[in-house]
Amino acid sequence: MPIRWPHMDAIDLRSDTVTRPTPAMREAMMRAPLGDDVLGDDPSVLALQERVASLMGKQAACFVPSGTMANQTAIRAQTEPGDEIICHEGSHIFHYEGGGPAVISGCMCRVVDTPDGTFGEEMVPAMVRPDDSHFCRSRLLVLENTHNRGGGTVWPLERLARVAAAAAGRGLRRHLDGARLWNASVASGVPVATWASHFDTVAACFSKGLGCPVGSIVVGDRQTIARVHRARKLLGGGMRQAGMLAAAAMHALDHHVERLSIDHANARDLWRTLMQVPGLEADPGQPDGPMTNLVFYRLAASVPFDASTLQTRLAARGVLALATGPRRMRMVTHLDVSGAQCATAAQATRDAMAGS
Ligand SMILES: *Cc1c(COP(=O)(O)O)cnc(C)c1O
Repeated sequence: MPIRWPHMDAIDLRSDTVTRPTPAMREAMMRAPLGDDVLGDDPSVLALQERVASLMGKQAACFVPSGTMANQTAIRAQTEPGDEIICHEGSHIFHYEGGGPAVISGCMCRVVDTPDGTFGEEMVPAMVRPDDSHFCRSRLLVLENTHNRGGGTVWPLERLARVAAAAAGRGLRRHLDGARLWNASVASGVPVATWASHFDTVAACFSKGLGCPVGSIVVGDRQTIARVHRARKLLGGGMRQAGMLAAAAMHALDHHVERLSIDHANARDLWRTLMQVPGLEADPGQPDGPMTNLVFYRLAASVPFDASTLQTRLAARGVLALATGPRRMRMVTHLDVSGAQCATAAQATRDAMAGS
């Protein structure tokens, strides 16, 4: 839904993708040395790829336009048509990427469903198919950290390590959708390289909490990243003077990672205030409140209207949020909303629940 202009100074909690680049980020973009990245000589892109590969403890990286392309190129690089991917029912690759695994890679998905997006190692043998020509070939495990629809869940590191090891033990490749991996890292104190060490490939986004206008990245071994690079070209994702975008990402890595803790604190405060509002309930994904910057809550069964009505009522009060289910709402904190604005949004929610 496009925002019409009366909403231009709305408090926008629809996503952490709505941030605009700061003046300092724009300056960094202006100063970036540029080349032609499709021809392989944009120095700013090369520098970003090297930096992130090394941050994540991998050999190589490929800069791509979106998180969706990061995931889908990584899937294509590690599968063949007829293969099966094991992932969560609410995962971005299964739920929000237009059927990408089927369209782009000819893969099936076999899904696990749990409230918070995490699952135990015992699920792996239950999901991997026997080696038999009747079945898909189980090929790739995809985990998501933080888990978006699970409520911004940070996986317990040990649980994630055991699931990944169980998959590796059965010959599966492992991909991490780390669109918000820096949120997971800041919330847990676990370095991104530690999370990444359990996977063959990792996708991460600069255009979410890190505040960039465009840009995501895939890391992995040299051979796999060469295949990702080929898939990026195939999908039309090769970009020429992309160094302007890479410079934004470099700036974000320098200035926007540590501050994610502010977004997490704002999310918790917002959630606590919302839980005082009559008719609102905690979400089963995160019953004790947000672990990171995604705030989910539900409308109680007694409320005589649904989440899309609440979304409309909030918009009329200058607060933008998303109904992510018939009774489920999401509000996301980020670089462009302050604690005071979150408090205003909570008050507007109280009014919208009581009013019309
Ligand atoms: C946002 C997101 C992506 C990628 O989104 P794009 O809009 O394509 O950049 C991938 N995975 C998760 C978990 C996300 O939240």
